[in-house]
Amino acid sequence: VSGDPRAEQIPRYARVNTLLWNSSDAIEYFVARGFVLSGPFESDTGFGRDAHVPNLLQFAPRTLFHEDDAYLSGKIILQDKASCFPAIVLNPPSTETATVIDATSAPGNKTSHLSALMGGKGTLYAFERDFKRFSTLKHMLSSARCQNVQPVNADFLTVDPSDTRFAGATHILLDPSCSGSGIVNRLDYLVDTDSENEVETNDRLNKLAAFQLSMIKHAMKFPAVQRIVYSTCSIHALENEHVVKEALASDEAVSNNFQLAPKEDVLPTWPRRGLPSEMNAPESAESLIRCSPGEDGTNGFFVSCFVKRTKDPMKKRK
Ligand code: SAM
Repeated sequence: VSGDPRAEQIPRYARVNTLLWNSSDAIEYFVARGFVLSGPFESDTGFGRDAHVPNLLQFAPRTLFHEDDAYLSGKIILQDKASCFPAIVLNPPSTETATVIDATSAPGNKTSHLSALMGGKGTLYAFERDFKRFSTLKHMLSSARCQNVQPVNADFLTVDPSDTRFAGATHILLDPSCSGSGIVNRLDYLVDTDSENEVETNDRLNKLAAFQLSMIKHAMKFPAVQRIVYSTCSIHALENEHVVKEALASDEAVSNNFQLAPKEDVLPTWPRRGLPSEMNAPESAESLIRCSPGEDGTNGFFVSCFVKRTKDPMKKRK
């Protein structure tokens, strides 16, 4: 089953889709099916709750769900733990008037997570540029019954921030294409990267980083945006801390007053933070999250969060 020995250190994660189910009922269901609430590494049938992500269950690494009713009916979503962090850090509002954007959505794991955190309320615009992947996205959204999501088959970079449909967006999730270098190869596992295991050259990484930066800068142009989460499943500083550093120094960040959200606001209980040596202000790495492939019981991952600082009225008067 495994393509990489580190895969044996990564539990099989199943996120309970709270649009359709809850964790207590899910636990009861799996116990009735012969699973034992003893932790994912106790036996082949062991499982448990995750310590960092609400409504995430951990099973033994080789557990298969493809014929399980809960999976087939959209009640559980197979999603790596680290890939649940971005939606939690974005912390979207759950009001009827909320407007949220997922800029790079397919296959839709994080979109469905956002929709659940919004309690199915408000509007979540889910952009996806690739037509084939857009079909996969629509299938996932219908199976997970994400009724507050409006999928849009478009390139996010071409979306006009002043378009009345999107101008009220306060929260934006950016999980763009990356090298996928953090993904531990488990051949049977559905991963949410779109990378093709291409040869990693500096040239390719630089091109990806330039694209990733352009996506963050574009998100910063949305007039009502307060919070932007940028994530990758890459382990390279070039696509992670370096992109964040450049985004913070960009005209878009400076003119719109964006800064990194403080650590207290970015999953503070997660111990592995950004790489201080790769940031201009080393202490700002505490605001960033990293996951090391295998070592943290997850794939390799990176999460950052930009927030708009409200302008100081006293300063304006001077
Ligand atoms: N967030 C997704 C999930 O959790 O299921 C995974 C996203 S995957 C890493 C990146 C996706 O962004 C790909 O499907 C890719 O086709 C799409 N994409 C890349 N550039 C885009 C753009 N400029 N506008 C919209 N979608 C884009």
